[in-house]
Amino acid sequence: MKSTAIKNITSTWKDILHTIFPNICLACQKLPKARDAQFCVECLHQMPYTDHFFIPVNEVVIHLKGRAKIHHGAALLRFREGGIVQQMLHQLKYRHKREVGEVLGDIAGNRFLESSLFILPDVIIPVPIHAKKKLVRRYNQCTVFGEALGKVIGVRCDETILVKHTQTASQTGKSRSERIQNVANSFSINKPQEISGRHILLVDDVVTTGATLEACCMILENHNPKSISILTMAAAES
Ligand SMILES: [Zn+2]
Repeated sequence: MKSTAIKNITSTWKDILHTIFPNICLACQKLPKARDAQFCVECLHQMPYTDHFFIPVNEVVIHLKGRAKIHHGAALLRFREGGIVQQMLHQLKYRHKREVGEVLGDIAGNRFLESSLFILPDVIIPVPIHAKKKLVRRYNQCTVFGEALGKVIGVRCDETILVKHTQTASQTGKSRSERIQNVANSFSINKPQEISGRHILLVDDVVTTGATLEACCMILENHNPKSISILTMAAAES
């Protein structure tokens, strides 16, 4: 309880510092940003990038193996409890720092272009969040990431194709397949014509168990896409 209170005070102070000194690194929030970057030189050098863009069988692919038919999957960064990536995603999701999503999307776009494992998609689809959550957050963080990525690879990102129409009901006491069905029931497809026969790139923030992505794939597959690939900002270490 005490440590949570201290953490809250610390992050409020960090927010105030950011407002006063907007040139502080978005990741460590201590050092000044490097030239033309959102992060300091130190953070730029110690970003825990994965090798997923170049390794056919990686954690993301393994997570979804036998559960969803995906062409390729990758996470840009490794997510560790208390680590720099967690801090960045916290800024993006709860502190309105959309620049974090933009810079990660930009980096992911450049990695994507270097990778021979992905197919250039026809459309980028973000994992949706509920409208109420979007109102509080001001944006869907996955859309911010997807749009920045799309700018680099020359593909549009559309958050109106796959939507979340209800808040997910409690997952307590449910089996994995029930949980996935539960998540899937809260999503719906608005424009099936945007999926049929198309190469889809589904984007998310952090892949942990892969359940949300599996639910999204399940729904998308009902509308006969040509292929589905997955790209996330980070993957939690298992
Ligand atoms: Zn830094």
